[in-house]
Amino acid sequence: MKLLEYEAKQLFAEEGIRVPTGILVSKHEEILLHMDELAGKVVVKAQVDVGGRGKAGGVLMADHDTVIEKARQLFNTTIKGVPVTRVLIEERLDIRHEYYVSIAIDRAKKQPVILFAETGGMDIEETAQKEKNAVRSVSFCPLLPDVPNFLLRELCGDSPAEIQKTVNRLYHVFCHKDALLAEINPLVTTPDGVYAADAKLIIDDNSLARQGIAINRDLSEREREAEKHGFSFVELAGTIGVIGNGAGLTMSTLDLIEFYGGRAADFLDVGGGADTERVMHAVRLVASVPSVRVIVVNLLGGITRCDEVARGIIAAGVAIPVIVRIAGTNAEEGRKLLSEKGYEMLDTMDHVVKKAVEVAG
Ligand code: GDP
Ligand code: MN
Repeated sequence: MKLLEYEAKQLFAEEGIRVPTGILVSKHEEILLHMDELAGKVVVKAQVDVGGRGKAGGVLMADHDTVIEKARQLFNTTIKGVPVTRVLIEERLDIRHEYYVSIAIDRAKKQPVILFAETGGMDIEETAQKEKNAVRSVSFCPLLPDVPNFLLRELCGDSPAEIQKTVNRLYHVFCHKDALLAEINPLVTTPDGVYAADAKLIIDDNSLARQGIAINRDLSEREREAEKHGFSFVELAGTIGVIGNGAGLTMSTLDLIEFYGGRAADFLDVGGGADTERVMHAVRLVASVPSVRVIVVNLLGGITRCDEVARGIIAAGVAIPVIVRIAGTNAEEGRKLLSEKGYEMLDTMDHVVKKAVEVAG
């Protein structure tokens, strides 16, 4: 789950990373309560989960006299289509230099990897493309509690010692918060020391409970419902609903839909041993996706019993056509139950998918 800048900064500060003092508001009028704290120059920052926010007009410079107007301006616009519901007003840092640092997992090495550039800021992507050596990287054993000093030196070159310390503190955030990404761009030097001028933190969805996060905001309501039932579920842009068991079978169903010129509306893997109730919830969930015109159920009976699957489909009782291919354990009985209720069944995956593409139009 992605955290917003102000949330990430709070967690960074807990690990000793210096962040500018700031005030979070959800209406420009709220700023009136804080006018004495806003004596000097400030930065007004839209709290939206959008890359390239600054360039899209989401970061504005202001002072005591203009801060309310600038905040109002942000509340009245969208940044790359995202409405602004919260604005962070921060003391403006006297930036001398901008660095870039981010920590992620190198999946090939199965180790944390730290990227660092001496020329950070809004143009980091272009810089990285233009200059091959602009971004340095190191990876190391994930069991180490700190980034080894020799690697910090290799990474940060001649940058100030405080920069290296901050990189190590960011690594602590990364570990303690079960992050997939921890980034500071720009990490800045000022006459008063080193600060994180921006902050980005993505927490591993598998760790949300451990991190005390009750709701994954990045999921749609339907995706949350699916999580509750333990389905692997992803909403897609097409019109053909898909329910399968096993990621492989479900993926190949999706592939076949594409092959025949259709577009899948979702990926839903009910998992092993799906019973009547699970199948019922799966069918209802997929039927609730607004774009779905037809549902393909492609299930292989093993531990899963096809008669239970049939009962689940019937119990769901959705109005959208459901086309079924079941094979394996108790398939015979399942087919009998479904045909009594008038469901369309075909015996190969190829046939159900072709039929569904036809029905979806
Ligand atoms: P992003 O576009 O979402 O990455 O937003 P940032 O928070 O990184 O801000 C964009 C740019 O605004 C930074 O690269 C800085 O150059 C500038 N900026 C942000 N905060 C400050 C500040 O406190 N002082 C100054 N002088 N510039 C700032
Ligand atoms: Mn930034």
